[in-house]
Amino acid sequence: MAAAIALGAAARGTTAPNPNVGCVVVAGDSIVGRGETRPGGRPHAEAVALADAGDIARGATLYTSLEPCAHRSIRGPTCAALIAGAGIARVVIAIEDPDPRTAGQGAAMLRSAGVDVAIGEGADAARRSMAGYLTRLTLGRPRITLKLALSIDGKIALPSGESKWITGEDARAHVHLERAHSDMILVGRGTYRADRPGLDVRLPGLEERSPRRALLTRGEAVDGWETLSFPMDVHRLHDVNDLLVEGGSATATAFLAADLVDRILIYRAPILIGEGKSSFGYIGLDAIADAHHRWRSEDGRSLGIDRLEVYERVRGA
Ligand SMILES: [Zn+2]
Repeated sequence: MAAAIALGAAARGTTAPNPNVGCVVVAGDSIVGRGETRPGGRPHAEAVALADAGDIARGATLYTSLEPCAHRSIRGPTCAALIAGAGIARVVIAIEDPDPRTAGQGAAMLRSAGVDVAIGEGADAARRSMAGYLTRLTLGRPRITLKLALSIDGKIALPSGESKWITGEDARAHVHLERAHSDMILVGRGTYRADRPGLDVRLPGLEERSPRRALLTRGEAVDGWETLSFPMDVHRLHDVNDLLVEGGSATATAFLAADLVDRILIYRAPILIGEGKSSFGYIGLDAIADAHHRWRSEDGRSLGIDRLEVYERVRGA
């Protein structure tokens, strides 16, 4: 299951609005088929893995990070039908698909075809690998990650506004990897004007994975950029699983004030700025007590000379 989830995780940012699923077919002690959701969302992971396995799939076990689909499409048979047709004996599913067209019906179709089905192995890791898709299905908007490059003392720029480059090369390479795993990147009008950022992915082999670009502005549209007038407009983005907000301060503040940030990536450089631009303005907090229990530390590690800190928004169960 870990192998299946890893395959799906690598496809994050390329499959929206479909989920980034991973799948392996196991016969005896060996993996005989591998697949992940292909760019644009099709073919599905199970179809790729079954094609990879060919005839060896008969009697084998299939591991998939998400319940196989049960809704017929003009673009092909359901994965549940494909799996049963290939003679798979046992299917291990990490999590059920919350898509109401499948939710439980994929597993039911398999069982009624005589396939042994188990659900739940690797569920937490699978949820993390498809957090964007799952957020879109449960909250009706993409999963939103806010990226910040900060000094030790939490500043994003000198008083003059100079902010290039606070962090080093390894941190910037990590930002490019996050971009490759996003369906869309958004910046504010100010950042666009000041930096004219390309927001492309400059990592060998991943150049093709540069995401769509969006501007938060109530002004006129810019060629090659999609426009959101307000943070709440993310609810219109039905084909975006993962949205990366790259700044600047006003845009970050607007998203935080609207409680539309699910994850914060802080790239912290070992420098002090002192008087300078702080990361956010007023985000709607009036008491320290209200600031607690909203964010959970998820990860922290060194990236060259910098530190990466990852925080996740804690939302009521
Ligand atoms: Zn499918």
